[in-house]
Amino acid sequence: MPIKKATHQETKQHNRDLVLKTVFESETISRAEIARVTGLTRPTVSDAISGLLAEGLVEEVGIGSSIGGKSPILLSLVKDSRYMISLNLAYDQFCGAVVNLRGEVKAMEGIPVSGRDGEQSLGLVYEILDRLTNLGWKPLVGVGVGTPGLINTREGMIVNAVNLDWQNLPLAKLLQDRYHLPAHIMNDSQAAAIGEYVYGGGYTADENLVVINVRQGIGAGILINGRLFQGDGGGAGEIGHVVVQENGLQCRCGKRGCLETLSSARAVVQRAQMRASDFPSSALVKNPDDITLDILVDAFASNDPLAEQVVLDAAHYLGISIAGLVSTLNIQKFVLTGDMTRFGQRWLDAVREATLQATLSKLAEETSIDIGKVDYRGCILGASALTLLDGYSLLFMQSSRD
Ligand SMILES: [Zn+2]
Repeated sequence: MPIKKATHQETKQHNRDLVLKTVFESETISRAEIARVTGLTRPTVSDAISGLLAEGLVEEVGIGSSIGGKSPILLSLVKDSRYMISLNLAYDQFCGAVVNLRGEVKAMEGIPVSGRDGEQSLGLVYEILDRLTNLGWKPLVGVGVGTPGLINTREGMIVNAVNLDWQNLPLAKLLQDRYHLPAHIMNDSQAAAIGEYVYGGGYTADENLVVINVRQGIGAGILINGRLFQGDGGGAGEIGHVVVQENGLQCRCGKRGCLETLSSARAVVQRAQMRASDFPSSALVKNPDDITLDILVDAFASNDPLAEQVVLDAAHYLGISIAGLVSTLNIQKFVLTGDMTRFGQRWLDAVREATLQATLSKLAEETSIDIGKVDYRGCILGASALTLLDGYSLLFMQSSRD
């Protein structure tokens, strides 16, 4: 295969991105250290830093300690030099935030969806973005959107989002035209995975990681060598709509017995309501229609038999699904995020146990399954990181030359 030689401009851009990424990954860092980490020459690093200082993205913040020789000047990312807007179009609530370059949420807005779909739910997206753009945070560099459903990130297209009744909706283009900002769309669970990876702390640059987002829906984000793996059609990690129980409950996707009908936050509430009469000793039996996730979390913590039954069942089926991923991918680090993590250690232990029982012991024993460090903000932060990816290349190198 012929190797295309990079132009001078491309090389310069590549070096700038690499240097910026290195600054991003440290609190403070000297030019010499950047040169050591990146393998670039000192003059190349100095040149790139001059550009980044002029762009206002990097600043000199003090003098570091030295082991002999001149003490180095320390550099740091100017975290408030740019802002991004990110949206999480979750099932029951659309949520949006203004986020700085360090993932700090500066402002937040939420709108309940209340069953609206199609054009109406698109109107809600505009409403929340209108509110956020009017707050005056500047400069805004992009909009990132995490949404449930099958998403073509490259085309900026929502291929299919069952909950919102959106098919082939070119959301990125609609937002670009309306707000004159670059816009990016990604599946919410994939966004949550990036949020956890970038802002959760403690992950290495070439990490293999599966983040499973267990809330009203269930989806996974798969990172291989620190890059999101979306699959050929963008649907990698759509584990929520795999049938795990024959003739089970009707799922929103039209099938029966999907993982989502058993292990999601929506499912445990629904099942607790349905099964309340089987558990006369449960405190929840009096008003089953009033059961909410909050009530179930409290009941589970106080060992209520109904809550235990539905939550541990949910954990069991999730564990079996994870076993499938463990065996397929042999990725050894799994992280769980989303509302269901509120059930805590006992839920997690039940997930682990089911995974262990459903796959080769050796594979399961070498796999860690833990609760994520980035809470509900995961999707928001991941969607904002998507903006960084395009505009600032801070997080992921776009170039194929590295
Ligand atoms: Zn389904």
